[in-house]
Amino acid sequence: MTEISTAAAEIANRVEAFVRETVVPFEKDPRLGSHGPSDELAAELRDLARSQGVLCPHIRDDGTHFSHLETALILRKSGLSPLGPIACHVMAPDEGNMYLLGKVGSDAIKQRFLKPLVAGEGRSAFFMTEPAKDGGAGSDPSLMQTTCKRDGNHWVISGRKAFITGADGAQVGIVMAKSIEPDSEGGACLFLVDLPDPAIQTERVLDTIDNSMPGGHAVITIDNLRVPADQMLGEAGEGFKYAQIRLAPARLTHCMRWLGLAIRAQEIASDYACRRTAFGKQLIDHEGVGFMLAQNRIDLQACELMVDWCARVLDTGDLGTTESSMAKTFVAETLFQIADRCVQSMGGTGVSGDTIVEQLFREVRAFRIYDGPTEVHKWSLAKKIKREWREHQADA
Ligand SMILES: Cc1cc2nc3c(=O)[nH]c(=O)nc-3n(C[C@H](O)[C@H](O)[C@H](O)COP(=O)(O)OP(=O)(O)OC[C@H]3O[C@@H](n4cnc5c(N)ncnc54)[C@H](O)[C@@H]3O)c2cc1C
Repeated sequence: MTEISTAAAEIANRVEAFVRETVVPFEKDPRLGSHGPSDELAAELRDLARSQGVLCPHIRDDGTHFSHLETALILRKSGLSPLGPIACHVMAPDEGNMYLLGKVGSDAIKQRFLKPLVAGEGRSAFFMTEPAKDGGAGSDPSLMQTTCKRDGNHWVISGRKAFITGADGAQVGIVMAKSIEPDSEGGACLFLVDLPDPAIQTERVLDTIDNSMPGGHAVITIDNLRVPADQMLGEAGEGFKYAQIRLAPARLTHCMRWLGLAIRAQEIASDYACRRTAFGKQLIDHEGVGFMLAQNRIDLQACELMVDWCARVLDTGDLGTTESSMAKTFVAETLFQIADRCVQSMGGTGVSGDTIVEQLFREVRAFRIYDGPTEVHKWSLAKKIKREWREHQADA
C-alpha cells in the first residue's frame, strides 16, 4: 500500500500556504470573466507559483510523478481556491493532457509538446466531444463524425467539435478523429496539433454555468487540417484506448480539486453560521443549520476516502476504470449536495458572488456532466453487474 512521503506532505503544505495567502486575494480580480480567468491573469498566477516552487507540484524535479495518493493530497490543497489549480498549473484539461502525453507520447512528442506544457509556457485542449445537433460524439464516443484520412506524410482532419475547454487561446490541441483509412477504418486516432491553426476555427465560446477554466468551452470547426503523420499519438485506430488511459486519472483529479474547493466552502459556511445570529442564537445552534454542516463534514470525509481508495487502485498500475467511475459519480453527486447545503446555510450571501460558495455550486453542477454524466457511469456499472451475474450463472 502506497502512503504519503515526507516530500509529498511538505509540497502539499507549501501549496496550501501559497493558495491561501497568495492566490485567494485574486478571487475578485476583474480579469475573471464568464469564460474563465483571462490568459493574462493565468500567466501572472503561474509566475507566482513558479517563484514559490509550486508549479506542477505533483511532478518531482526529475520529471517523475508523485503517486496518485500523494497527488490527491497535493491537488486537494490546490483546489482551496478556484484559481489555485490554474496558478499551480494542475487544472483540466492541461493536467490530464500532460498525463496522457507522458504515458503515450514518443520522445519527440514529449520534447516538443509536453516539455513546454509542464514548464507552464502555454495551455492545451482536448478535442473529443461533437455538437449534439449534428448527432456527434458525446456520452457515446462511438458516434464520432470527425474524420481523418492519410495523404502522403500527413493526415487530413475535418469535422466539428463542441465544449472544447480552453481551445480558445491554447497552444496545443489533442484532436480525436475517426479514421477512414482501410487499415484502421472506424478506429479513433489522436493527433497533436499546434494552435492556432487557420484550419481550426472557433465558431463561438459557449455561455455555460461554470467559469473556472481559461478560454471557456468552445464550438469548433476543423476544415481540412493537415497534421504530419509523426504527430499522431501512438497507433492509428487506438485513440479510444489512449483516451481511457487519460480518463481515469483525469476524472479523479477533478474530484481532488473540487473536493478542495468544497472544504473551503464548508469553512466559509461554518464561519458564517457561527458568527450570524437569528432568533436569539447563533445559526449553528439551530438544528436545521447545524445538521446541514454536520452532514457536510461527514460527506467531505466520505469523498476523501473515495478519492484515496481509487488513487490507491491506480497506484497498483490498474487502469481503475470501474473504480474511477464509482468515485467520480459519488464525489460529483455528493459535492453538489455539500455545495447546496453551504449555500442554504448562508442565506442570500450564499447565492451572491461575495464568496466562492456560489461558484462551487455552479462548478460541481457542470462536473456532474463532464468526464461522463452520472447516468452513463451508473449504466456502465449496471452492465458490469449483469455481466458478472451471467458469468456466475455459467460457473454454477
Ligand atoms: C463544462 C464542460 C466542459 C467540457 N470539456 C470538454 C473538453 O474539454 N473536451 C471534450 O471533448 N468534451 C468536453 N465536454 C463534453 C462532455 O464530455 C460531454 O458533455 C459529455 O460527454 C456528455 O455528452 P453530451 O453533452 O453530448 O450529452 P448527451 O450524450 O447528449 O447525453 C445527455 C444526457 O443523457 C443521459 N445519458 C446518456 N447516455 C446515457 C446512458 N447510457 N444511460 C443513461 N443516461 C444516459 C445523461 O443524463 C446525459 O447527461 C465538456 C462538457 C462540459 C459541460
